[in-house]
Amino acid sequence: MTSTSMDVLVSLCKRRGFVFQSSEIYGGTGSCWDYGPLGVELRNNIKRVWWRDFVQQRADMVGLDASILMHPTVWKASGHVDHFTDPMVDCRECKRRFRADQVDEMAWIHYCEATKGNKFTIAGGEACKHCGARRTLCPECGRGELTAPRLFNLMFKTFMGPVEEDASVTYLRPETAQGIFVNFDNVLQSTRRKLPFGIAQIGKAFRNEITPGNFIFRSREFEQMEIEFFVNPHETVEGRPADEHWHDRWIEDCRAWFTRYGLQPDNVRLHEHERAELAHYAKRTVDLLYRFPMGWSELMGIANRTDFDLKQHAKLSGKSLTWFDEERKEHVVPFVIEPSAGVDRALLAFLLDAYREEEVRGDKRVVLRLHPELAPVKIAVLPLLKKRAEIVASGHALRTRLARRWVTIYDDTAAIGRLYRRQDEVGTPYCVTVDVKTVGDQEKGEVGDQRVTIRERDSMEQIRVPIDELDSLFDRLLGGSAWAEVAGAHPRAES
Ligand code: ATP
Repeated sequence: MTSTSMDVLVSLCKRRGFVFQSSEIYGGTGSCWDYGPLGVELRNNIKRVWWRDFVQQRADMVGLDASILMHPTVWKASGHVDHFTDPMVDCRECKRRFRADQVDEMAWIHYCEATKGNKFTIAGGEACKHCGARRTLCPECGRGELTAPRLFNLMFKTFMGPVEEDASVTYLRPETAQGIFVNFDNVLQSTRRKLPFGIAQIGKAFRNEITPGNFIFRSREFEQMEIEFFVNPHETVEGRPADEHWHDRWIEDCRAWFTRYGLQPDNVRLHEHERAELAHYAKRTVDLLYRFPMGWSELMGIANRTDFDLKQHAKLSGKSLTWFDEERKEHVVPFVIEPSAGVDRALLAFLLDAYREEEVRGDKRVVLRLHPELAPVKIAVLPLLKKRAEIVASGHALRTRLARRWVTIYDDTAAIGRLYRRQDEVGTPYCVTVDVKTVGDQEKGEVGDQRVTIRERDSMEQIRVPIDELDSLFDRLLGGSAWAEVAGAHPRAES
């Protein structure tokens, strides 16, 4: 299991340029995050691998990129205008707002009369040890009364066009799914698909969350990777209704995807929604939970949304959203299985799971054991001596050559041991070191052997490889071959 604390990860993310607080120089927003140079690579890798595995490699999937601003009736049809609400309570003193269902779980501030009004922070749900009181007031300021719960819509409202009037109100999409539903017929007509098939989309979504927090776990602007998989509800597969069969398959495919790219199986589990927890449109929903530092929490959801959305959009738009079943000669409104994952939560889980603190020869080494496909930088070229111009030139030339195919950086800003540790800390799977033996010494009339040292991040083993063979070697190493298998063919180098 992972025991990485959120504070440790937040600090690494900031220090090494994965994630910064949005608008930090103005004090930050607290609910939006910016991805730095390494963060954007990691994020793009997660999206690229997801798209490749779930869209490009499957014969039954196509992609879409719908706009964020949509016709406002979309949100009426989907139920978001009427139902996308959380009950909230406000503090009458400090004006902070809390989700009514979370306020009892929060740690709370208490000014205890039994100890002359001393201030204590008490764990959520617990009573004061001194006076036995339980929380009734605002958990944050400890002084204000809370209002009765009121419903609060989580959608961001905005205006389309130059005039701020009711007729031009629209919303920033709170999920990418609706862009897929309203394009169902366009995709069907343009691709001649047959059921079952899916449409996938990756894109930003916005929710005016009442209590954003836990770093990038819950923010107000985030990104989703969603699939709407359309099935014929009149069909059966292996003796079961097609929607139920496909729902189970998607649950397993999603779980397998996360463990394939690094999450330890013990840190992922399923949560079956109880009837009361189910969204108004869902027949069944299963969440994939991850063991985050704050406890088991939702990584993604896989819902059976039935035919609710297509029927609603057909009703409000007046357009038929059906598929014609040639065999049975009937129009069918497909059922929809929706695997919906957050890019930011996936990124957080991959980082937490990859983080290790190890002891190496009496020193602490921090290493991100990220899957090579996700690692932001694949290869770091490091010179052993930056005073030697030939070594530096050779290092730069190597970087340029390797960077055509893999994200490769050059760094000569510290001694080699330090450079290795820096790359370990950001998960770079391979370092290439150029040294005196590589380039030789012209003054002494020594020619170089044109070989470099390759170091692998996890085992820290090193091998010596001719420069000419680097492309084919990294083809194998970054194409899925195991280090042990590839390294065996080359002489070991001293570490
Ligand atoms: P939660 O219960 O945590 O609010 P949800 O059930 O409302 O999540 P869904 O509507 O199912 O979430 O959205 C699908 C996925 O989108 C979630 O599993 C999560 O990965 C991501 N997601 C949803 N809301 C946020 C958010 N505010 N910040 C970051 N990611 C989010």
